[in-house]
Amino acid sequence: MATQTVYNFNPGPAALPREVMETAAAEFVDYRGLGYGLAEASHRSKEFEEVIHAAEANIRSLMGIPEDYAVLFLQGGASLQFAMVPMNLALPGKPMLYADTGSWSNLAIKEAKLFGDVKLIYDGKASNYSVIGDVAEWPIDADASYAYVCSNNTIEGTEYRSFPDTGSVPLIADMSSDIMSYPVDVRRFAMIFAGAQKNLGPAGVTIAVMRKDLAARAGAKVPTMLKYSTHIDKESLFNTPPCIAIYMVRLVTDWLIKLGGLPAIQKINEAKSDALYSAIDASEFYRGTAEPADRSRMNVTYRLPNEDLEATFCSEAKKAGLVGLKGHRAVGGIRASIYNAMPMAGVSRLIDFMDDFESRHR
Ligand SMILES: *Cc1c(COP(=O)(O)O)cnc(C)c1O
Repeated sequence: MATQTVYNFNPGPAALPREVMETAAAEFVDYRGLGYGLAEASHRSKEFEEVIHAAEANIRSLMGIPEDYAVLFLQGGASLQFAMVPMNLALPGKPMLYADTGSWSNLAIKEAKLFGDVKLIYDGKASNYSVIGDVAEWPIDADASYAYVCSNNTIEGTEYRSFPDTGSVPLIADMSSDIMSYPVDVRRFAMIFAGAQKNLGPAGVTIAVMRKDLAARAGAKVPTMLKYSTHIDKESLFNTPPCIAIYMVRLVTDWLIKLGGLPAIQKINEAKSDALYSAIDASEFYRGTAEPADRSRMNVTYRLPNEDLEATFCSEAKKAGLVGLKGHRAVGGIRASIYNAMPMAGVSRLIDFMDDFESRHR
């Protein structure tokens, strides 16, 4: 394996493990001696069946998913889940509870309002979404359809450290940008979903882990493709799935298992984010934007003294082989996305670059 010259801090689609990229490249034209590629194979072939079953088995074993939960491979991105969740799971006359912790929960709330009453259990707007705060204080209406959270706020750089206790109200989480970055107790959630392109693979597939009984809530008017029950009954093969994206999720989850699973990747992720936040906190030049207690381990957001310096920072970083550091256009600043596939060596290189940049521009 050649030494890595460029480290990719893109927020999504994001870096994949180098090893996975090499395996996928080696297998692309001739899949494991088949004589043609998986991209050319039927989704009903035994080769692809093996792939989708292995991907599901990997996800089940990594996350410890109980038997009464389905693992689905869906399309339409995490964004389609913003609509599918309320379309399938809102109960007549029962409000949907949403925590507004940033841009992605905002978009989910907008869709939910099409299907019924939304009650905010948290509104982070006043803090510019820099704070999540004490989830134990959030008002959970026991008569609600469900409660919804976005576990990692990719754009604002905050992440839940604990989740509200919603009792018998099903808890649903958009984990697009921190799924499988640390162990979670799946039983605490009725549903977890994630677009693959941050932590699990390329764009094109969305993973949904859900309690099967919930699917029965959907009314008769929900279109076939948008009904969870369709995909549960057909084991994600109702229509042609994104075969190559699922294949790569399989490779990424193989890689995670080999690494030691979620406890092992959690340690690595904590070491990376601790190192980067320590560098930010040790300097007067860099300023973190999220409340320290709620800082994301996946998306580290910070500012420099002014926007001109931020632009210079990004262009010089790029020349030094550190790409994708520009903050989201909605918030500006710098964002280092350090998902599972970012090695410690990439974070160390960024910290060295930051020290050097500061010494030259302070
Ligand atoms: C990227 C992202 C999304 C949107 O995902 P798409 O697959 O592009 O629809 C939703 N939620 C979160 C938390 C994200 O990071």
